[in-house]
Amino acid sequence: MNDYDYENRIVSPTEIMGENSDDNPLRPQRLDDYIGQDKAKQNLAVFIEAARQRGETLDHVLLYGPPGLGKTTLSKIIANELGVNFRITSGPAIEKPGDLAAILTNLNDGDVLFIDEIHRINRAVEEILYPAMEDFAIDVITGKGQMAVSYHVPLPHFTLVGATTRAGQLTAPLRDRFGVTLRLELYTPEELAMIVNRSASILGIPIEPDGALEIASRSRGTPRIANRMLKRVRDFAQVMSDGVITLSTARTALERLEIDELGLDSNDRRMLTAIVKFYKGGPVGLETLAAAIGEEAVTIEDVIEPYLMQIGFLNRTPRGRCITRAGCLHIGLDMPDIQQTQLKFD
Ligand code: ADP
Repeated sequence: MNDYDYENRIVSPTEIMGENSDDNPLRPQRLDDYIGQDKAKQNLAVFIEAARQRGETLDHVLLYGPPGLGKTTLSKIIANELGVNFRITSGPAIEKPGDLAAILTNLNDGDVLFIDEIHRINRAVEEILYPAMEDFAIDVITGKGQMAVSYHVPLPHFTLVGATTRAGQLTAPLRDRFGVTLRLELYTPEELAMIVNRSASILGIPIEPDGALEIASRSRGTPRIANRMLKRVRDFAQVMSDGVITLSTARTALERLEIDELGLDSNDRRMLTAIVKFYKGGPVGLETLAAAIGEEAVTIEDVIEPYLMQIGFLNRTPRGRCITRAGCLHIGLDMPDIQQTQLKFD
């Protein structure tokens, strides 16, 4: 049984249904409004400008990094900056090669096709993608057996933007067909504070700088979480005080939501506690840990772990997950002896 609801908790980096509808006013539209990710942004600006000057389509782009960091946003920005149409789909949504063929043949020259969760595309569909990306053409076969006829269908020159949380799960032939690969990193609290201030001003929420920084530092490096927390804290500020988000209202609201000063909620603490109490601090295999806390292994890997590793509370070793001394300290438990001995020999 699954006791936890990781997908719908306030600190989940994955999208809650309806949260990011197409009219989401918080999505930056241009590269200049996109805060942080300086390295990716600077490189992308050069590639976009070069393609524009040559009058060519931009090379295919692979974006990877944990959920909620701005991959969809960035791909829309690419289309905006190039002044072309943006088409969006996702790996699991394309069930048959015919579905992809229909999407591809309906594109216009220069369009950006965004495929989210591209690592989840199935094998038969992926094989259509190879010639489409490389030669801008696909071979469509109609009929069966001796009656089968193959047509070579040229496609418009398009830019594929693929997004994935796990670049390692892409097959080598698919990975090799992307000319540009950009890795998105978790944001710093200062960058997130800029995002919170920008969102507050769009939504007309009065906020003081230290209130914004407080929300930012509890948002696990993720803009999607920062925006969601801003909206919840606004509710508290409105009902409990004069509507202005100050340091003190932000703190009270986040405490009421049981999100601690580092952005951990009770589920994170339960996972860390399980590693200490059941597995003497680790190492514990991912599957074993997943079964122990009643969670999917992929949720732990994609959603929970990246931030706990980033703040130095968890280590991923070839033998499994280990809690660190800082992690133990944070949840108020002693570092188990066994792991201390193991660390000495590691
Ligand atoms: P992903 O596709 O990586 O899961 P999204 O692109 O959907 O993430 O981003 C989630 C939300 O976070 C967006 O609605 C947007 O408002 C906000 N966001 C993401 N990146 C940025 C950024 N760099 N600057 C400002 N807001 C951002």
